[in-house]
Amino acid sequence: MAKTKILLLSDNNDKIKNVDELINKNAYELYFEKDEEDCLKFLKDMAPEVIIIDIDISNTDLRFLPKKITSARDGIIAIVLSKDDNIPQEILRWADAFLVGDVSSKMLTATINSNLRNKLSYNLLAETNKNNTKSLYTLKVLYNISSEFAATLEKDKLIELMMEGINRSLDFDLCYVLSFNNDNKPVLIVHSKYTLSDELCASLKDHACINYNNLFKNKKAPYEINVENIIFEKHIKSDIDCHTFSIYRYDNMFSQISSGENFFGLVEIYKENGFTSTDVEIFRTIIQQVSMPLKNAFLYQEINETNKKLKKLEKIKSEFISIVSHELRTPLTVIKGMVDNIKRFFTLPEKMHPAIDTISRNIKRLSGIINDLLDISKIEAGKMDYKFAVTTIDDTIKAVQSTLQGLANDKNIKIITDIQDVGVKVFADIDRVDQILVNLVNNAIKFTPNDRTITISAYVKDASELHNEIFEDVLDVLSGKYLVVCVHDEGVGIAKENLKHVFDRFEQIENSLTREAGGTGLGLSIARQLLEAHNGAIWCDSELEKGSDFYFALPVSTDKSNFLIANKQRINQAKVHNDKFATIVVSAENEIIENLLNEENLIHKKYLNNSYKETDGSTTTLTMAILDADRNFAKLFKQKIDDTMVNNKTRYPKCDIMYSYTIYPEVGN
Ligand code: ADP
Repeated sequence: MAKTKILLLSDNNDKIKNVDELINKNAYELYFEKDEEDCLKFLKDMAPEVIIIDIDISNTDLRFLPKKITSARDGIIAIVLSKDDNIPQEILRWADAFLVGDVSSKMLTATINSNLRNKLSYNLLAETNKNNTKSLYTLKVLYNISSEFAATLEKDKLIELMMEGINRSLDFDLCYVLSFNNDNKPVLIVHSKYTLSDELCASLKDHACINYNNLFKNKKAPYEINVENIIFEKHIKSDIDCHTFSIYRYDNMFSQISSGENFFGLVEIYKENGFTSTDVEIFRTIIQQVSMPLKNAFLYQEINETNKKLKKLEKIKSEFISIVSHELRTPLTVIKGMVDNIKRFFTLPEKMHPAIDTISRNIKRLSGIINDLLDISKIEAGKMDYKFAVTTIDDTIKAVQSTLQGLANDKNIKIITDIQDVGVKVFADIDRVDQILVNLVNNAIKFTPNDRTITISAYVKDASELHNEIFEDVLDVLSGKYLVVCVHDEGVGIAKENLKHVFDRFEQIENSLTREAGGTGLGLSIARQLLEAHNGAIWCDSELEKGSDFYFALPVSTDKSNFLIANKQRINQAKVHNDKFATIVVSAENEIIENLLNEENLIHKKYLNNSYKETDGSTTTLTMAILDADRNFAKLFKQKIDDTMVNNKTRYPKCDIMYSYTIYPEVGN
């Protein structure tokens, strides 16, 4: 074992001799210097662990000695020899031990040993502390990136976060990730402390390809990669130096990024000073942590793409229905006109009457089907025009009863009405309410055997009083007061398992009357969507062979319900088009509206009338603005945002106003 080096600073030969005799030569090597300058040089060159200072030394200003010694050799153990207690303050404050008067060998050895032991413990503690601090920092980095991982569904962002996490916790010299972009093209992202030589760039591509192909030696690789199709992306921290091939002499770690069967890429890092076992663990943890969110990001991308395709198909289908039904309607109108003319202007022989009646009935049926198809395509394209107004529906109920009683007479069915709450106001398109009711009563007539009764009742109920196990989801979203209309029949009924399906498009439930009754299976689906537009609901209750109750509910007119119905389409559009945020601008005077939009979770940012400031430094994704403000302010606001976008792209980097509406609160009565 190397001996501990001790330096003695003294110009007194007797003292030097004395200490030399006292020192245990088996454990220590003693050196001495006679003046300050040589002493400081020795400290720098030889780095002794202990210095013994004779404070009776001449030609040395003891007040400055501690500072000079510490700057020559920090952390040295200083033992002071003095003939009496007369020791300068500076030395007293600084030295580790004092030996006053005559010194024995044992005293000197004990003093040196105990100080050396103290120093060793101190160093150990400092080292542990340093390691703890590093672990704590690494833990913090891991914790931070894992929460950041969880917050994103973007592949690129996840890879970026992973690299940042690895860099912060492992401080690599160079790291590359080979991953695949949205078009499944390979991308090689290199992060490096220093610039990269051209040869190294080319070699890194080769290297990544070889690593990738080796990974899939005996299996089919998920993507084709070769040096030509790799997209190279580099991020350099500092240009003061350049990495060359010598990077391959550095210590390196390599891993694939995968989760189960899914492969997302591979990552390799290089570090000059090598990696500890903890580093390996951290590397592995970060790669594991990123795999799951990456899997989600890939799934999310797939879902998005499928969604886009589905939306496109849905659009094509709606357009197809719309075109076909328009095309059918024109010739049908001509046929209807002709038949009406024949009936009006010619006296037909008795024998032809049934044939003409059949033609008329089928024309009516066909035009009903076409109208249903047109309605459905309009609703789905969001092009249905509603004429909302505050109204009662009592007259509509009575009108439907008297009109359809004629049809019901054929089956000797009686239609009665029971309006329990008269004159209740709703905010509705009365023609649509008529359409819904006609459909329900028509169905009731169709599916009810002869000689029975159909009852149309209407009453006000609070949402909390409306219950139905099967339609829980439909009723749960209601709140406040509703005018409920119930069409009760004593017909064939619907089996419990079919109750939900009757509101699906083209859904017809097989029963003894379905074939006879005809129909398209669109009526109830249209009714459901019309009621959705009214912020209402439709549901039913039925028992086979006993009869059915079809209910629909319309919100009783209030400022709030009227506002929400009137702007429902716009609000929905905002939600659909604005994946991230909608920015709603409200004026201070309209707290009610602000609250409503808040309930709808639409307010992301609020600007009061005239309070919009360009200086707010926001980086909001502004995709829509609903303006509830006076027209001038609305215009001004839009202009300001447009200007900001043009003049200062960094302030609103993603600012993209797609819709700008002015919503005025004066709806209803
Ligand atoms: P359709 O044009 O076929 O009547 P709807 O959407 O109005 O289309 O109705 C869908 C299906 O729901 C009907 O085909 C029928 O099977 C069932 N249905 C609707 N109303 C009643 C009722 N009152 N009684 C029994 N079944 C009914």
